[in-house]
Amino acid sequence: MSVNSYCLLCRRSIREEGSLAEMFYVDDCICSSCRGQMPYFPRTITVGKLKIEGLYLYDKLLREALIQFKEYNDEALYPLFLYPHVQRLKRKYRGYHLMALPSSAQALKRRGFKAVELIFSLLEMPVIEGFYKKSDVDQKSRSFKDRQLIRSQIALKADVNLAGKKILLVDDIVTSGATMQTGYRLVSGRADAVNALTLSYNRRFLPAWQRFLAEKVL
Ligand SMILES: [Zn+2]
Repeated sequence: MSVNSYCLLCRRSIREEGSLAEMFYVDDCICSSCRGQMPYFPRTITVGKLKIEGLYLYDKLLREALIQFKEYNDEALYPLFLYPHVQRLKRKYRGYHLMALPSSAQALKRRGFKAVELIFSLLEMPVIEGFYKKSDVDQKSRSFKDRQLIRSQIALKADVNLAGKKILLVDDIVTSGATMQTGYRLVSGRADAVNALTLSYNRRFLPAWQRFLAEKVL
């Protein structure tokens, strides 16, 4: 992928003007100031039997960028989310197939693109479109509790063959963990191995002292 010379978020030049740094290739698609404001706080989130790798807190600039991307349909932002992590994640999950947790058909229609799939397309891994929504009620029109219930109403397509495959469940935000857990229940037992990776996660998954630490360092 070619790197834009302008920050995808603030549109400023990625190379510091007039400095020696200008002569060097900067390997990112956002500027160092924006990158520094991303609440990168890698943690393993345990939900039931499932251990989920989480990269960012769903907060601050990451949250703003996700809202801009998903709710304001700014499709061009998709590379910035995983950009610094691509090589490591490709190595770690070599041999895995990606399965994205689904959004509602309405959200897809409103947006015109599959947000989670697009974010994780940077990993260039094989994708299995195996899940679908049992209930297609738009999440925005419901209360928080209803949304959690509806999001967990996902099912596996009948013709999906996972035998002998290693599956990486992916999502953009883990809020309660219910959706990931449902996805895990649907594929474990059919696949050889199941792991989970989320771009971001809710602060409530951190123990109190780590929440304090996150406030200090981010
Ligand atoms: Zn920037």
